[in-house]
Amino acid sequence: MTDVGTRDVDVAVVGAGQAGLSAAYHLRRAGFAPDRDIVVLDHSPAPGGAWQFRWPSLTYGKVHGMYDLPGLPLVDAPEDRPSSEVIGDYFARYERTFDLRVRRPVDVASVSEGAGGRLLVRTRNDGDWSARALINATGTWDRPFLPHHPGAETFRGRQLHTAGYRGPEDFAGQRVVVVGGGTSAVQHLLEISEVADTLWVTRRPPVFRDGPFDERRGREAVALVDERVRAGLPPRSVVSVTGLVMNEAVRRGRESGVLEPRPMFTRITPEGVAWDDGGTAPADSILWATGFRAALDHLAPLRLRERGGGIRLEGTRAVRDPRVHLVGYGPSASTIGANRYGRAAVREVRRLLETPARAAG
Ligand SMILES: Cc1cc2nc3c(=O)[nH]c(=O)nc-3n(C[C@H](O)[C@H](O)[C@H](O)COP(=O)(O)OP(=O)(O)OC[C@H]3O[C@@H](n4cnc5c(N)ncnc54)[C@H](O)[C@@H]3O)c2cc1C
Repeated sequence: MTDVGTRDVDVAVVGAGQAGLSAAYHLRRAGFAPDRDIVVLDHSPAPGGAWQFRWPSLTYGKVHGMYDLPGLPLVDAPEDRPSSEVIGDYFARYERTFDLRVRRPVDVASVSEGAGGRLLVRTRNDGDWSARALINATGTWDRPFLPHHPGAETFRGRQLHTAGYRGPEDFAGQRVVVVGGGTSAVQHLLEISEVADTLWVTRRPPVFRDGPFDERRGREAVALVDERVRAGLPPRSVVSVTGLVMNEAVRRGRESGVLEPRPMFTRITPEGVAWDDGGTAPADSILWATGFRAALDHLAPLRLRERGGGIRLEGTRAVRDPRVHLVGYGPSASTIGANRYGRAAVREVRRLLETPARAAG
């Protein structure tokens, strides 16, 4: 890598998924120039945020309600095309239309206190940036969560996480245990059960919700997450606040028994899984649909975490450091939240930039 030194900008945006692009759009509208006033850094190879990595059978018709980015609607997307392609193309067009100049692949290694009250954004492959404010929008895809279970290392079959799932074909003719109570688990089960024997295990009994996931339910779910984040606790899983959406495919899955959950097993054996009551189930594969955590390791030097393990936010602003905004975290971790909070973060950042930079310390 050539040494490019440290470049100054007003705002660094880390992450160019829905949340980062929304923030970048509002920064551009507010008159910030790319490369001079703002920089957008993303370590993925292509536009699309985490969507570019989602399995090909997750077609656009199967996603739950993807909100358009501000200022450019996504129209006429074919329902049967993989969402990774639809959204990858849409985000690429968006970046071009609003001249967002995302720098990629650029991996942000750390954000720490810099000189003169600024933040030092260090990258692994594109030098350093010095910024007066940071909008962090790094999502969760980079931190799949895999709980440890006794015996996991003895299992002779294959174990994988949702992040590595490429579609049902890999499981043809197998016995597959799917772990987890969220939407991904339900989607995996509905697909894999077409070609394999499946068994669903969940830590808690899943809650299926009838009726549309309307605005009121969305607001209620966001309020629950918001409460935790304000208290400095890490956000819980999406499904714990939204429940599982009941649609026709899910109804059929419940009727056929595919979506009949068993309680969590207590051990993994070389041949499968086992419960304390002596019950066992053989398995060729265990698919962990156990969710993701916020990808925030690069912010560790700023010591934003509370004792409860979460980062306390007021809106999008980190209570411990008003230069830092988190978008796509906690209450804004949905495509609609990412949009709304992107705008809110920019409003606050503009206010911050109107005040003189504070002294280093
Ligand atoms: C399987 C699945 C299906 C989903 N379906 C829906 C749905 O139907 N509707 C909905 O509203 N939400 C859905 N969600 C949630 C959805 O992912 C979010 O709402 C939204 O897309 C996340 O956007 P984001 O910008 O916060 O994160 P991401 O899209 O994850 O973008 C984060 C970006 O940050 C980059 N990045 C991360 N770390 C670094 C770093 N250190 N340096 C540089 N770049 C970095 C990544 O490369 C990535 O491009 C789904 C989630 C999953 C896992």
